Amino acid sequence: MAKKRRRRYRFKPRFFVIIAVFLIAMILFVKLVIGAVSWLTKKESTPDVTPNNLVIAIDSGHDAQGDRGAVAPGGINEFMLNDAVSKALKEELLGRGYTVIETRKLGSSEQKSLNDRVRLLNEKWPDLLISIHHNANEDATVKGFTIIYNNRKTDAYDGRYVKYNSNIYKMIKEENGRLYYKDGDKEKSFDLEKNASRFEIFDLTAKDMVAESKEVANHLYTSMGTLEYIKPLSEKKENTVINQNLQILRQAHVIGVMVECGFMTNEAEIEQLKNAENQKAMAKAIADGIDAYFKAKEKI
Ligand SMILES: [Zn+2]
Repeated sequence: MAKKRRRRYRFKPRFFVIIAVFLIAMILFVKLVIGAVSWLTKKESTPDVTPNNLVIAIDSGHDAQGDRGAVAPGGINEFMLNDAVSKALKEELLGRGYTVIETRKLGSSEQKSLNDRVRLLNEKWPDLLISIHHNANEDATVKGFTIIYNNRKTDAYDGRYVKYNSNIYKMIKEENGRLYYKDGDKEKSFDLEKNASRFEIFDLTAKDMVAESKEVANHLYTSMGTLEYIKPLSEKKENTVINQNLQILRQAHVIGVMVECGFMTNEAEIEQLKNAENQKAMAKAIADGIDAYFKAKEKI
């Protein structure tokens, strides 16, 4: 009996050691599996995106409260379609490494006047403005997309700008190893040598902004021309890429265009414009045009 008890006693610790080692091995294995799975799914959900340091402002036309924009037969308001394309465009651009700002929060009911939008653009200085709208016409047979630029900019600062930490400011002067610039009403400065890799000085006149905006419009015309569900307003390019004196394009001191994605008053076209896949295709085509423009400028 004593012998038996001693044997059982000797067996017990070894049994627990085996169990403990087994449990630790199991925990490590499970941790390893969870780690591998989360690494794999993370890789899948967030593809490698390299920020390209370019800021695109998306201006979704009209809003839910004040000016709702055009209305389609059946009661669809323009701002809804503008938001749908703008959201798809935002996603597409973020996926391509751009930074996106919104002149009106997408999907919200916030009211934003044109003056508010212009003010925001002139504070943020994005590299490019894309305004998204949908068209209407008394003649229900009119259909197709148009791209609008404005051939003048009012009160644009015809001087030197500095891009510093991803923001663009009006440059004042370089003095005693420092660069002075205007941030809103304030005068600020930074050390030129210490910030050598963080800034870029460039000239951008109103004339340049108009010329660049036209170039953007031409790139969009080419990329949007590949869309299958919609065609340009006219077979003539000069009737599709048009100059219009629009407040947001005229007063925002940025390179920018407005895309009229199609006619809500055309019975067949409104059906295409409501389609989420088509909205994504439009967003992709606009993003392709933006890519082509910045590639031509050797910025990406
Ligand atoms: Zn509109």
